[in-house]
Amino acid sequence: MRNEDLDPQRSGPEFARAMIEDLRWLGIRWSEGPDCGGPYGPYSQSERRAHYLEAWRRLRRGGFLYPCTCSRKDLALAASAPNDADDEPVYPGTCRERKDAAEFTEPAGVNWRFRVPEGDVVEFADLNLGRQRYVAGSDFGDFLIWRRDDVPAYQLAVVVDDAAMRITEIVRGADLLKSTARQRLLMRALGYTDLRYAELRYAELGHAAPDYFHCELVRDAAGARLAKRHDALSIRHLREKGLTAEKVLEMAGWP
Ligand SMILES: [Zn+2]
Repeated sequence: MRNEDLDPQRSGPEFARAMIEDLRWLGIRWSEGPDCGGPYGPYSQSERRAHYLEAWRRLRRGGFLYPCTCSRKDLALAASAPNDADDEPVYPGTCRERKDAAEFTEPAGVNWRFRVPEGDVVEFADLNLGRQRYVAGSDFGDFLIWRRDDVPAYQLAVVVDDAAMRITEIVRGADLLKSTARQRLLMRALGYTDLRYAELRYAELGHAAPDYFHCELVRDAAGARLAKRHDALSIRHLREKGLTAEKVLEMAGWP
């Protein structure tokens, strides 16, 4: 159980407590986590900053990162409309070759982007959805690694934690397929999949990389994907309405 609580606006101990309580009520158990410890802790991302900083430094030294000062407005003006369900338009590369990059020696105060290898093909076999193929630079562009407000971005945090925690199977929603391609590039840049890499991470487990299983999203009666704002369908709400854990799991298509 990993508590992904990096965003200070959307996290807090009361949310973590409620999440753990709801999952336990559903009958889900775990052997490592913020409530019970384990060999790869801490298990709350807000306590793992040193790991992300170390990865940021390594990526910066390797020339994989650059500071980006584009405003939201700049990006909106430059962007063509996003062509599918995936979040962000391709970054136009405005800050890629900036001359003053060396002056930024700490992550805070500016956005940091990962320089994707243009034209590189990222392929992986998803255990549910089959072979996936993305082209860096056209399917997705230089993505955020560290935010201006000094919060490590999701892509960096999960890659660092998955490796540090020896995660070998990743199950998540199909809305993150393209992010998996981004994360594969990040894993490669950090050396997590390189057999020659001194800290041998996946290699020592006999895996070249984790396996992936992307699930179709759970949707409401009108076909819209569920989100945190659908409070009427939260586990907590269903439980308070008197539904049993078995019924909730059945509604979610649990086998
Ligand atoms: Zn920029």
